[in-house]
Amino acid sequence: MTQSPKIDILSLFLNELEEKLLEMGEAKYRAKQIYSWIVKGAWGEEMKNIPLALREKLDQVFEFRLPKVKTKLVSKIDGTVKYLFELIDGECIESVFMKYEHGNTLCISSQVGCRMGCKFCASTLAGRVRDLSPSEMLGQIISAQRDTGERVSNVVMMGIGEPLDNYDNVIRFLRLVSDENNLNIGLRHISLSTCGLVDKIERLATEGLPVTLSISLHAYDNATRSEIMPINNKYSIEKLLEACQKYFDKTGRRISFEYTLISGKNDTPEGAIALASLLKRYMKSASHVNLIPLNEVKETKLSTSKNVNIFKNKLLSLGINATVRRRLGSDINASCGQLRRQAKEGNNQ
Ligand code: SAH
Repeated sequence: MTQSPKIDILSLFLNELEEKLLEMGEAKYRAKQIYSWIVKGAWGEEMKNIPLALREKLDQVFEFRLPKVKTKLVSKIDGTVKYLFELIDGECIESVFMKYEHGNTLCISSQVGCRMGCKFCASTLAGRVRDLSPSEMLGQIISAQRDTGERVSNVVMMGIGEPLDNYDNVIRFLRLVSDENNLNIGLRHISLSTCGLVDKIERLATEGLPVTLSISLHAYDNATRSEIMPINNKYSIEKLLEACQKYFDKTGRRISFEYTLISGKNDTPEGAIALASLLKRYMKSASHVNLIPLNEVKETKLSTSKNVNIFKNKLLSLGINATVRRRLGSDINASCGQLRRQAKEGNNQ
């Protein structure tokens, strides 16, 4: 007789857990008790009001998978914590815990690796291994909260992976994390960053999930963008910006554009003028540009620009709201994808 696979309990909503418990002949109120433990990362003996017999039964039916801290680096400069988490199958992902005045932010991963192939990004160098389940995305927040003893109030999906390439699991994760019985993190406190999968942006606009959309733009013309971001061969800058405008029209949520400054590629003052006119042409709403000094990755041979402030001031003078991303955790290699790569290289030796 083959055993049916165990149910990933952290990917369930409370009402789904209630149904399962009723099927198991248990009382419905137990679901709420169990649910409030698992969202705190507690299982087994830690679930103090759950009798041993029921805990044993739960172990037969459900699987409780929480990412395990494999490596933890704490910045001496600003307290940023970088985690390398190990998943149930031994694969690793990264999350970064950052302290801001308005609360704690966790940057989470959505896939093991990535298949988008952006030329400057460490996460995509070895391709995509697999998608993360909703529970593995939620689990990064739960594990970070357990480890730091602090509440995460903001989430950015800017870690390893392309969230819109793992669409269904990401949507389920967003509904779970914002559920009042679950972590109850408001969707307005969540940012989703994408390299620009236009069909999925259009679909996301219809989901009724008011997350902040961040677009990794990184170039003001199609030739440069296609050179550094292969997705641009499928969806041009114009198509992408039209989808952004539609997203704004449907959701009322202002869009943020990420722009990594790469020396000699996209960082001249003329580039800032071209970027400003592009955004004004396509976006009826005020847009915000977040300038990121490139984190150099040894394989990519692209170097960071020294013109960050000149570029920013040019955008501001042209009426485009622009900020430079604060570099948190610069002493712990906090830019994403780098720790997982180091760990993998270490394992191969
Ligand atoms: N796939 C999604 C989310 C992950 S990348 C996306 O493309 O948006 C998160 C952000 O980090 C993106 O804006 C990405 O372009 C940027 N990024 C990737 N590698 C970087 C590097 N080496 N230096 C600076 N920013 C980088």
